[in-house]
Amino acid sequence: MADRGTRGSGIAGQEEASYCVLPGRTDRGLLLLCDHAGNALPPGYGTLGLLPEQLKRHIAYDIGAAAITRALAAALEVPALLTRYSRLLIDPNRGRDDPTLIMRLSDGAVIPGNRKIDAAERDKRLGLYYEPYHRAVDAAIDCFLALGIPPILLSIHSFTESWKESARPWHVGVLWGGDGRVAKPLLEALYAEGDLIVGENEPYAGQLEGDCLWRHGAQRGLASAIVEIRQDLIRDAAGQEAWTGRMRRIVERVERALAATAPPLERIERCQAGEVAPALPDGCNHGVGEMTKLDKTLTMELEAAAFRRLVEHLRQHTDVQNIDLMNLAGFCRNCLSNWYQEAAAERGLRLSKDAAREIIYGMPYKEWQAKYQKEASAEAVAAFEKAKH
Ligand SMILES: [Zn+2]
Repeated sequence: MADRGTRGSGIAGQEEASYCVLPGRTDRGLLLLCDHAGNALPPGYGTLGLLPEQLKRHIAYDIGAAAITRALAAALEVPALLTRYSRLLIDPNRGRDDPTLIMRLSDGAVIPGNRKIDAAERDKRLGLYYEPYHRAVDAAIDCFLALGIPPILLSIHSFTESWKESARPWHVGVLWGGDGRVAKPLLEALYAEGDLIVGENEPYAGQLEGDCLWRHGAQRGLASAIVEIRQDLIRDAAGQEAWTGRMRRIVERVERALAATAPPLERIERCQAGEVAPALPDGCNHGVGEMTKLDKTLTMELEAAAFRRLVEHLRQHTDVQNIDLMNLAGFCRNCLSNWYQEAAAERGLRLSKDAAREIIYGMPYKEWQAKYQKEASAEAVAAFEKAKH
């Protein structure tokens, strides 16, 4: 801390019109990003023709995300970059060619100020309100790399608690693409909290080409992930404080997990000498690692991993019908959903039947039925009826 910015080992703070940089240490190897931090608009844009209250809604920015990013950066003493202008002006988490770069319609609201923009206006917004932030992200990354530290990029976002009138069950989601270096330990750390419904690439699909982490993470070979926190949990100061504490604990857990999996030099040397088996990436040791300490959390993590695999397996094998599962094994996907719902209820979490089913099926139950449920054979129905009695 003491030498922050004085011996080139830190990133200095910076205040610009369209973004700001919060200062922090580089030796932690972590850079926080908040692409949807602000809901301001530059002079001359008014409210983009919207009622002022529309700019306080989620369509304009990620409610609570900036507060979490700022407090987390301070707690961890790491640098962070935050945008100031609303994503309705131009969305920094979209590729330059993405059709949703400048939204004409957002969650039912027409954006009058975006309705008729021409190429010149689009280029102006790209030049003044989009690229400066991305250049600053690049510059911050360059600072890390100059010190020989490839930073982890962690992007903080928030999502609405419901969408198109259906409640979103997850408290938090991790979004990622093909690189699970951070996303996987991050998911594990979130699962280990024990009281969270965690979405993997929920409520949105993972990394998309052209988005912020694709550009600065994937394209530069840096490990990255998005954390999406449900907005009702971080709307007020108490929630923000609680989630900052939680995120700090989670980041520290991820750091420990990454430190444990990075093979130290000594292990590499012993491995080369044939004394120990190599630690394979993504924790997949194929039986070569001995389990010496099996504490309570680890047991829970392993059980959770097995559960996730079961769910994933069932999601992939859509040809396996629930009625056949019931006839053969006495349980089906709906039982699993009920067990999930009951476990949540035991912990005081309200989770609807539909929401629990969506967690298991990976889509609304009705949608799954329409897509994959087949007409049951007479024998299957008879066996099912018989078993019921
Ligand atoms: Zn966002």
